[in-house]
Amino acid sequence: MNGSGTGSGGGGEGTRAVRAGLPEPVKYEPTLPGPVFAAHFHLPGDPTGPYTYGRDENPTWTLLERAVGELEAPGQDGVETLAFASGMAAISSVLFSQLRAGDTVVLPSDGYQALPLVRAQLEAYGIEVRTAPTGNDAQLDVLDGARLLWLETPSNPGLDVCDVRRLAAAAHARGALVAVDNTLATPLGQRPLELGADFSVASGTKQLTGHGDVLLGYVVGRDAEAMSAVRRWRKIVGAIPGPMEAWLAHRSLATLQLRVDRQCATALAVAEALREQPEVSGLRHPGLPGDPSHAVASRQMRRYGCVVSFTLPTRARAERFLQALRLVDEATSFGGVRSTAERRGRWGGDAVPEGFIRLSVGAEDPEDLVADVLRAVRESAA
Ligand SMILES: *Cc1c(COP(=O)(O)O)cnc(C)c1O
Repeated sequence: MNGSGTGSGGGGEGTRAVRAGLPEPVKYEPTLPGPVFAAHFHLPGDPTGPYTYGRDENPTWTLLERAVGELEAPGQDGVETLAFASGMAAISSVLFSQLRAGDTVVLPSDGYQALPLVRAQLEAYGIEVRTAPTGNDAQLDVLDGARLLWLETPSNPGLDVCDVRRLAAAAHARGALVAVDNTLATPLGQRPLELGADFSVASGTKQLTGHGDVLLGYVVGRDAEAMSAVRRWRKIVGAIPGPMEAWLAHRSLATLQLRVDRQCATALAVAEALREQPEVSGLRHPGLPGDPSHAVASRQMRRYGCVVSFTLPTRARAERFLQALRLVDEATSFGGVRSTAERRGRWGGDAVPEGFIRLSVGAEDPEDLVADVLRAVRESAA
């Protein structure tokens, strides 16, 4: 153990997850101290940190940030983690703190559905935005002259995967920084900094916290100067998590490995069952041996994620499928312990067929879930 608490000891990922970010034991104190609700802290004399004002720092964030850092970059020195109010707050903090008018950024064309909104805002500030698909490392072709390369792998909702090592090397050779949206994989599925990225950015709203009751985001980075600009952006915009959210997130990390292992294994079982259904086309899950993403995913991911996507023949068929499900809630988002699914085309933001379904696999018994999904596919035929 080093000075940063009991969570930084060695051991496997499950061991690390249950102890991540915990302070040294203190007699009569709880294992994980409760949320600290404070807009300001006692601060006589010269205003030096660590805790001065609640928009700058909070002890509950400190523990959570330490925990996320231990999972995203175990054993790496000089890595800094910052918690945010949401995934979008974290994403925006990197893009808007690193880019200036006249810079060029490369985004995925098939990434999270709010990226087009971000794109419009970047362009309004005089930043050139180029896009290319995640699959086949197509972002390589538009890298020249870029200041920042933004990757999202696996991409949401299409589940394409790009080769982070290859893209990061190409970007660095051109002097560009690299950020990876690690939301879908979670730090137990993929560790972008080890693959060469400068930032790992994620929504903690999804599987990281896993209960569908918290919005949260984080940025992990190794470049001190870049991270101080991200920190400054958080202070300027005030996109900070509430202490309660930060504490709930930290509490949820203790079960991260259990949840991720269970959900990923069941997702593969569901994907395998759907593969046998003649009405299902475009089935995607990076863990399926025949999936176009499987080879690259196997080189850089430790777990393949809890999302399965596929297409039913028509919009009406997809809607009947969703209605017929009993164990899967029709809802957006993903990664929770309760399975959810939605017809992604209903939002209008993703380039997907009308019958495209994104299914997020929860922690139910695998046999129950596979049976429910197959029954709903059958019943939706009527
Ligand atoms: C949900 C999501 C986000 C946005 O996160 P919020 O917490 O909803 O702001 C960003 N990227 C990906 C890949 C997501 O799935």
